[in-house]
Amino acid sequence: MTGIRINFGRCGRPCSSLVTRHLSLSTISNVAKKNPKTPPTRGSIFVISAPSGAGKSTLVKRVMAATAGLSFSVSYTTRAPRTGEKHGRDYFFVSPKTFEGMVRRDEFVEWADVHGHFYGTAHKQLQAAQDAGRDILLDIDVQGHKQVLQQLPEAVSVFILPPSFEELSRRLRNRRSNTPEDIERRLQTAREEIAHWSEYEYLVVNDHLKDATQALRTIIRSARFRRPSQAGRVEKIIDKFGG
Ligand code: ADP
Ligand code: 5GP
Repeated sequence: MTGIRINFGRCGRPCSSLVTRHLSLSTISNVAKKNPKTPPTRGSIFVISAPSGAGKSTLVKRVMAATAGLSFSVSYTTRAPRTGEKHGRDYFFVSPKTFEGMVRRDEFVEWADVHGHFYGTAHKQLQAAQDAGRDILLDIDVQGHKQVLQQLPEAVSVFILPPSFEELSRRLRNRRSNTPEDIERRLQTAREEIAHWSEYEYLVVNDHLKDATQALRTIIRSARFRRPSQAGRVEKIIDKFGG
């Protein structure tokens, strides 16, 4: 993790008044009462972070495939696509100039410089999921998590850990999609990233893939029963009780 190095003018720090306002709990329940088309349950926002190579993409793919009602937040990035990656599915691959324009126009909930490239989550991704009453999963780094937490404190955060440092470096080498220099850089970054584990609500050690997948699915399922998620639906029931 290299920190944010360039200054994009007045948006050096992302601002998300639109989403914060749009997602506020009282607003949601008021809107739900007035507008019958508002989804009865409110989708949750899941932020998943991990040191590179811990198996986060593998886990997220498995969970996405197995979980109905869950959208994936496709980020914007200035890095080049890897073999097999598709624009619009894995990332929106954009030039630094396009990214900079989006920062200037406040189009990101959060953005950061990770491993020397820019990555950002667009407001419209969260808004689309919320309008549809769907949960949304953000696969973002520790810097992005910090920014999301400040603006959307109800977001559910999960940190994925490898079972050991040795296993992490073995997984990075086996992936073969990174150069030796890049692997070294990612391992160095991992040391910094892992220090943020205590900022997350849930921790999942990705030792056995099947167990870790189950753990992540359990977290997502149980969040659907949290009060903020159910409030709109329950208020409709309570209304009929009168009093
Ligand atoms: P990340 O998205 O965190 O950078 P990946 O999902 O690309 O990591 O996983 C890194 C490598 O580790 C991949 O080759 C993947 O197949 C492998 N991997 C992921 N989870 C496990 C696991 N539980 N046990 C062994 N190998 C794993
Ligand atoms: P990769 O290049 O391996 O796909 O991703 C590198 C890192 O960038 C991962 O830790 C991933 O979670 C993070 N990342 C991906 N999208 C975003 C984003 O929109 N914002 C932030 N802050 N990090 C992101």
